[in-house]
Amino acid sequence: MNRDDRDRSKDEISQASQKARILVVEDETALLQTIAYNLERQGYEVHTATDGLAALDIARSQKKLDLILLDVMLPRFDGFEVCRLVRQDMNVPIIMLTARADEVDRVVGLEVGADDYITKPFSMRELMARVKAMLRRVRLVREERLTGGDGAPGRAALEFGDLVIDPVRWEVTLKREVLSLKPKEYELLLFLARNRGAVLSRDLILERVWGWDYGGGSRTVDVHVRWLREKIERDPAQPDRIVTVRGVGYRFEG
Ligand code: CA
Repeated sequence: MNRDDRDRSKDEISQASQKARILVVEDETALLQTIAYNLERQGYEVHTATDGLAALDIARSQKKLDLILLDVMLPRFDGFEVCRLVRQDMNVPIIMLTARADEVDRVVGLEVGADDYITKPFSMRELMARVKAMLRRVRLVREERLTGGDGAPGRAALEFGDLVIDPVRWEVTLKREVLSLKPKEYELLLFLARNRGAVLSRDLILERVWGWDYGGGSRTVDVHVRWLREKIERDPAQPDRIVTVRGVGYRFEG
């Protein structure tokens, strides 16, 4: 391999893994520095904040964040509040760093709705794997959107009456109005819709939508189904698009 090839392959490697912009919010500065150092070594662009207010400022000024790692216990707005406020304007995936098991329910619950969480103490190796998996899933969805229109299977819009899922534009419309869906809600809906009529177990849904390495339980699926129902069902209390299959999981009826 000559020098040019070497440089080029180095560029390709850094381009493939990089340019992902990650905001890390953690008030324990030693831990913050360790996380930032490890992320930078993986080629990510890292922004840091040590309190909730600073985190919000950065999230709002940096419109192109790819991921936020967010500690729960923070000065000036805790992680729950930051997550809620960020979600009002952005669909950026959020992985929460939780110190206590009793925070987990809130983290994945309706009120907060993080995309993933990791429980302290964690190893850097574990955290890096989780970051990589989340970015990979988001990238797959985006690539699908960007490379659409080639007629390949899975690119065509899925239409269910007034509900239209457009995988090319990564957009869901109901009665011609674009719905505001979080990344995981979109991925879940797409997975359900592509398997219309099939009974899908919670475990299968978890594996396909969240990934086999996701630490959360199947309650995560139920919570996201509930959110989706609020957005797409004619009557969320009597759902007829996403139907519960008792003791198993869900079936998408269209
Ligand atoms: Ca903390």
